[in-house]
Amino acid sequence: MSISEPPAIIGTLSPSRAGDFMTCPLLYRFRVIDRLPERPSPAAVRGTLVHAVLERLYDLPAPERTIAAAQALLDPQWTRLLEQTPEYSTLFDDDAGHESWIGQARQMLERYFALEDPQRLEPAQRELYVEVVLGSGLMLRGYIDRLDVAPTGDLRVVDYKTGSAPGPGFEAKALFQMKFYALVLWRLRGTVPRLLQLMYLGNGEILRYAPEEADLRATERKVEALWEAIERSLTTREWRARRSRLCDWCDYQAICPEWGGTPPPVPDRRPGDTTRGSRRAATDEL
Ligand code: SF4
Repeated sequence: MSISEPPAIIGTLSPSRAGDFMTCPLLYRFRVIDRLPERPSPAAVRGTLVHAVLERLYDLPAPERTIAAAQALLDPQWTRLLEQTPEYSTLFDDDAGHESWIGQARQMLERYFALEDPQRLEPAQRELYVEVVLGSGLMLRGYIDRLDVAPTGDLRVVDYKTGSAPGPGFEAKALFQMKFYALVLWRLRGTVPRLLQLMYLGNGEILRYAPEEADLRATERKVEALWEAIERSLTTREWRARRSRLCDWCDYQAICPEWGGTPPPVPDRRPGDTTRGSRRAATDEL
């Protein structure tokens, strides 16, 4: 093998699926190994819609990036999403349900404008797909909502969340996704991003973190340990169910032993490609 030949790819992880495994290995199995469909929740689809609007907002010339312009993007982006995924039309029982749902999306856009002024920003990238193969052969990949590059070359990684900011003690989990992206950018570009910024449009708060190289090395060790744990589950075919408050949003309760259900036999399959070449899943958006 020549020195420049890349390592053989042993597996792939995105921050969302890594988060699934950390939350509940059985949830990871259902999503990635069984690839069982999930009903889109109104909250998750609203997240997709708000992300789409914020992405398109920056197509406009800076002086035109107003709250009214952003809110005017909601209907055409919703129409586009419905064309892509017609089953979203079953999310609401009636027009009042849809109106209330889209009204909350309007409020999220208002909160966005209270947090930053898009007329003063020129993102370098939006919805940036990134992937890198670590020395171990583990491929990391995902979509970064926004990447800002300062004139000095400093990178700021920005992620929009349509939920609320985590309470004290839960920031580490929220920051894992951002450190994951920072690790990918560092390995791709050789530069540690200066700032990681999570913008919570559910309650109008920002969580910022300035990573250091040591953080990213620790994140690299963590994702590699996670992949080893996934490999062990693949070998033993044991995927532990881990009950938590997140079960309230899990679509698989009926087949989960923690809730009295019986999972189907484990398919004889490796983790599927759930990110590449497709837009992010609605389950990634909150
Ligand atoms: S219901 Fe809870 S324990 Fe069961 S698979 Fe879903 S997240 Fe895991």
